[in-house]
Amino acid sequence: MNVILLGPPGVGKGTLASIAQERLGLVQISTGGMLRRHLRLGDELGIIAKAYIDDGELVPDSVIIDMVKERLREEDTQGGYILDGFPRTLYQAEELAKFADIDLIIDLELEHEAIIRRLSGRRACLSCNGTFHMSMLQDETTCPTCGHRLEQRKDDLPETIAHRLEVYEEQTAPLIELYRKKGNLVVVEVDGTVEENYQKMLKVIEENQ
Ligand code: ADP
Ligand code: ZN
Repeated sequence: MNVILLGPPGVGKGTLASIAQERLGLVQISTGGMLRRHLRLGDELGIIAKAYIDDGELVPDSVIIDMVKERLREEDTQGGYILDGFPRTLYQAEELAKFADIDLIIDLELEHEAIIRRLSGRRACLSCNGTFHMSMLQDETTCPTCGHRLEQRKDDLPETIAHRLEVYEEQTAPLIELYRKKGNLVVVEVDGTVEENYQKMLKVIEENQ
């Protein structure tokens, strides 16, 4: 089964996709995570992407689409995957439809204030790509998964958060209508604990299998 997770930044796409990978074997494809890996490596793609990401802008469609297209050619995705952070523009969605068969789109929804709270308290591990809320950490500087140092992403600073939410409303939110019209979109309200939210999402996945 191939799933898209839609929804604004900070809604928990990455966290829920990583649990789905662990428990359901759906391969998590996180474009944000892939881009941050390139940033770390300092390769050509990383150099191109850095300025956009730090400013809370979207990385150009052509770059992202090629990256995802290549990833979906890899063997491990054949048993099903969960896209987290892609597509984010109408053009990306149109292109995706040419090279992938998507069974289900899950639109994660959460009120604005809660999103801002989550993003501004978020700490990220640049080594394993995990993200954690400060309030959940015993030690705010160390990744509980891999022991690497945790950082606040530049794009999680308050000014940039506001801009990312605007970019989301302008460029990504229109995808909700597009997929709703196609008929395979389900909305999940993610206002509970991580486990509660996961169970809601799991139910939707099971009902649509
Ligand atoms: P979040 O969902 O919290 O915004 P991500 O890790 O998904 O965080 O994305 C971080 C940044 O990576 C985005 O702000 C954007 O610059 C870039 N990015 C990720 N996915 C895409 C995409 N599909 N198209 C364009 N840019 C992207
Ligand atoms: Zn880590």
